[in-house]
Amino acid sequence: PDEPAVVLSGVGYSYGRTPALEDASLTVAAGEVVAVTGPSGCGKSTLLMLAAGVLRAQAGRVQLAGQDLGSLGEADRARLRRREVGLVLQYGQLVPDLGVVDNIALPLLLEGRPPGDARRAATSWLERVGLELTGDERPGELSGGQAQQVAAARALVASPRLLLADEPTASLDPRAGRELLDLMVTTTRSSGGSVVLVSHDNTVAARADREVRLRAGRVAHEVGLA
Ligand code: ADP
Ligand code: ADP
Repeated sequence: PDEPAVVLSGVGYSYGRTPALEDASLTVAAGEVVAVTGPSGCGKSTLLMLAAGVLRAQAGRVQLAGQDLGSLGEADRARLRRREVGLVLQYGQLVPDLGVVDNIALPLLLEGRPPGDARRAATSWLERVGLELTGDERPGELSGGQAQQVAAARALVASPRLLLADEPTASLDPRAGRELLDLMVTTTRSSGGSVVLVSHDNTVAARADREVRLRAGRVAHEVGLA
């Protein structure tokens, strides 16, 4: 329980020839809220994807919930991610052919929860993230802000020990953004979980215990805010 949620040690990643991330290290303690900030293109999303085990580090090491991701195959990494991580991405995360409630219920269904149960839990999360929807809407009918609220609900529904969020409030107005951020931080923390918020927005960083600034794929410095 007290082991760090995730440890990145000297990780590197390139999409092509230019490194997106070089020798980056970050430890997120249990219960900690960390903001990863820096200009567009500096490697924030890449860092998040490596922490989630969606991307595989090409150098260095990533340990998620005490497990070395490099030593796990694709299926085991996916299983570990499903169990430990709630992921809020900017785009393309929702299943277009499923209604909103079914999208939110997915992590619970994958865990084997009975469908009625999963849908009830998902419906209550609709309200908690501030959405006034019937739940039958398809993702394509939603505004960008609504899609972010649905993505947050889906990430939170299974009480992840590590919530990873990429610009989670980018399409929301300031008040709705603040409320969603509060919800993500308070609910994850209340169950002892950790949060990593990727953003170029200072108000997001202000909500964290600690800010880690990236510059051109490197950790420039850490700023303690708590
Ligand atoms: P940030 O989240 O800080 O904007 P990213 O991690 O998205 O930064 O990107 C870091 C660098 O990697 C950028 O130069 C970006 O153009 C590049 N990059 C990101 N994703 C891809 C990709 N799928 N293919 C090629 N290059 C990418
Ligand atoms: P962010 O700043 O959060 O990384 P971007 O707009 O940079 O958002 O990236 C959005 C998506 O496009 C991501 O999936 C990223 O991997 C991809 N991407 C970013 N840069 C490139 C690139 N140079 N070539 C291809 N895909 C990219």
